[in-house]
Amino acid sequence: LWNQILERLQLQLSRPTFETWIKTASVEQLENNCLVIRTPNPFARNWLQKYYVKTIADVAQDILGYSVEIHITIAEGDATTNGDSEVLWSSPNETPAVSAISNASSSSAAYANQQSKPKELNVKYVFSRFVVGPNNRMAHAASLAVAESPGREFNPLFLCGGVGLGKTHLMQAIGHYRLEICPDSKIFYVSTEQFTNDLIAAIRKDSMQSFREHYRAADVLLVDDIQFIEGKEYTQEEFFHTFNTLHEAGKQVVLASDRPPNHIPRLQERLCSRFSMGLIADIQSPDLETRMAILQKKAEYENMRLPREVIEYIASSYTSNIRELEGALIRAVAYISISGLPMRVENIAAVLNPPVEQIEASPEAVMNAVADVFDIAVEEIKGQSRRREISLARQVGMYLMRQHTDLSLPKIGEEFGGKDHTTVMYSCDKIAQLRTSDPGMAQTLRQLSDRINLASQSKE
Ligand code: ADP
Ligand code: MG
Repeated sequence: LWNQILERLQLQLSRPTFETWIKTASVEQLENNCLVIRTPNPFARNWLQKYYVKTIADVAQDILGYSVEIHITIAEGDATTNGDSEVLWSSPNETPAVSAISNASSSSAAYANQQSKPKELNVKYVFSRFVVGPNNRMAHAASLAVAESPGREFNPLFLCGGVGLGKTHLMQAIGHYRLEICPDSKIFYVSTEQFTNDLIAAIRKDSMQSFREHYRAADVLLVDDIQFIEGKEYTQEEFFHTFNTLHEAGKQVVLASDRPPNHIPRLQERLCSRFSMGLIADIQSPDLETRMAILQKKAEYENMRLPREVIEYIASSYTSNIRELEGALIRAVAYISISGLPMRVENIAAVLNPPVEQIEASPEAVMNAVADVFDIAVEEIKGQSRRREISLARQVGMYLMRQHTDLSLPKIGEEFGGKDHTTVMYSCDKIAQLRTSDPGMAQTLRQLSDRINLASQSKE
């Protein structure tokens, strides 16, 4: 039965979800319309309970022909004392030592003496401040699992995703949470750069021994931006051994990178395979709803009240980088408090109007993007029609061509079917003005520039 269920589920769920949460479970019994599913740990139980009970029930009903109730239990494991409550694992060989959260750059004497609020961990980067959306659900879940039971299933946990999408936040949240559960554990958070610097310093000071002892004493080693290990042969060599020592000792390693291991150039094959042997959880760009939720949460923490339209406006202006999204919120709030204006979209549009990086593009790329977005044929844009939406598209096109190419005003005029350069100049001025006064225009321009950038990048 379970195999049948698995087969169906496999078709319905994404591969990582399936591999991580479903495949590890099994059927314990089926009795009186009650299907008991066994999961390897409390985390998987909660996860299935929360997200997949309904799906599993539907599939089971489909196969059995009658409806069943789903119960999810936890396998009796060695470290689990009580199968059903919120059990958090503790590692068996943790000694009640001094909590040693170390900044790797500190001298080894300073390693052992810090209190449980390590300064390397940003106090804001905790789970409670992390908004879970479809884009990061998997990474979040895996991070929680790792914090709850380090060194178990997902070792290493490899978080990957673009800039400003929450990798560092999640990583540090693991550290914070782990310390809450187990204040004595040794959580080391370090950037790859720091690791390298430490290594170089150790070589120079002839203190490799203490360098190794230090890193290999971690219960949880969090290494950020591991993509920077690229090409650094000696660091790779040393990190390989650190990794192995920790891994073999059942200690948790968490890595963050802006790309998956197999896309890190000049990474030793053996490291690449180590990095890939646990779980690779990626974080995508958040959707609009998630971005709005992030702003909402941020505003709550800062005790700010924001009208929904403002949140929506900011969230729709910044689509792919949460750091920028937060920055925009802060700028908007600062501007409003300085100017004394009411918090409304029309008042913040000017400060937010975010500069999109403008990649050099061909006039055709600009023209096509404008035609596409305005849904007007290129011939019409180049033509003489003075219909409102056509002339607006034309003006936008001239403005963007000015931004994305280095054509002179007369040349741009030519591109647009032989318009006078004063017309081009007038158009550029007008759109520049609209850009700051009209949030809709600002957004359209961003969207267009993104598109043009994309089209031009993919040609390179
Ligand atoms: P990365 O390390 O991936 O470049 P960070 O972890 O530094 O990104 O995140 C950038 C900023 O965005 C941080 O201030 C972080 O708190 C915030 N952030 C990212 N993802 C979320 C999220 N899902 N919920 C709340 N804040 C987030
Ligand atoms: Mg980061």
